[in-house]
Amino acid sequence: MRNHYIKVTKIILWVYIILCFVIAGLNNGYKSRASADVVQIISWVWHFYENYVKTAFILICGFLTIKIAGGSAKMRKKNLIGFFASALCVHIIAPIVTKNSELYLFAMPLPWSTTPLQLMYPESSIYLTRHPLWGTFGITCALIFYVIMTAIVLIGTLLFGRRWQCSTLCLFNGFAAEVFDFAIPLAGKKKKVTKSGKKIFAVIKWAIFALSAFLSLWWVLFLSGIPVFDISKAAGKIELVKYLFFELFVSMFFWIFFIGRGYCYYCPLGTFLGFISKLSGQRIKTNNTKCVSCLRCNNTCPMSIKIMEKAQKGEDVADLLCVGCGHCIDACPSKTLSYSTRFLDKIKNAKKTYPDPAKSLEKVEK
Ligand code: SF4
Ligand code: SF4
Repeated sequence: MRNHYIKVTKIILWVYIILCFVIAGLNNGYKSRASADVVQIISWVWHFYENYVKTAFILICGFLTIKIAGGSAKMRKKNLIGFFASALCVHIIAPIVTKNSELYLFAMPLPWSTTPLQLMYPESSIYLTRHPLWGTFGITCALIFYVIMTAIVLIGTLLFGRRWQCSTLCLFNGFAAEVFDFAIPLAGKKKKVTKSGKKIFAVIKWAIFALSAFLSLWWVLFLSGIPVFDISKAAGKIELVKYLFFELFVSMFFWIFFIGRGYCYYCPLGTFLGFISKLSGQRIKTNNTKCVSCLRCNNTCPMSIKIMEKAQKGEDVADLLCVGCGHCIDACPSKTLSYSTRFLDKIKNAKKTYPDPAKSLEKVEK
């Protein structure tokens, strides 16, 4: 049965990738030459696909992944429940409530995309195309949604570490890496990122982060009325190329041939959240008395972090790349590993100090 589930997940991932390419092609190429009626149809298909088809894929493949992973994969289960809730809120409930089917464009904080900043500039192409459809009220709603999502991501990461966004909320690459994990790569066998591969990713990561930070800063200065060169047109185009090539196309290339988290190695938002997770005290706790040196944690880590070497010494793993997926925790046969932050530690300590009175009573009665 497990193999059948994997096959179904692979087929759905192929469909997802093909649809993404077709719709991105129609939307960013053909649409500019099409008649007004055709443009309307393409937009409708695009939004229906992004909201309803994608959510259906997340629910179906998430359910299959829980089945494939088995009952002991508790962290994975939590990740998938998070993605179900995130997809339902961002792709179904919020668009229905606000009557705006493009809200998902505003679900990822800076520096991932400057789209929300561009929407504040009346001469930008996003403002010129959306204002006739949404009106000033609709634009305000989209920006409020963006501010709420940014607060949820940043405050959540400060409390719960990078796991909050990258393994629970992210509807760009995080969900795909988890929901389609057993189907990736579609061609060939699972691969690990080598030492030199990690170095290449590090170069791309800092280049993309510098570009994203520059674009974000430029838009903030420009919108604040501070005199800077007007590069608004070029900035919009660079953002589009960045999205189509480095985000959409390359992520899918990784899913087909390589690993699910490929894009997460250099995602500018992930890089930024890595620093916030440092502030949150995020780490994988280890206990060297229990490590049996089986290497399963290292083998399962999608970010190629050397966990076992730390576990053998009883040291915590606090790596900027850690997306908090918990695969290492699920894979550990001696249950040596656990995920924590300062806030989670406080909750655990409070539970120890003030145990649940019902449970304490049960113990006394026994
Ligand atoms: S690194 Fe970026 S793409 Fe990956 S899960 Fe985190 S926010 Fe999403
Ligand atoms: S160290 Fe563990 S939690 Fe962090 S990315 Fe690797 S497998 Fe996921």
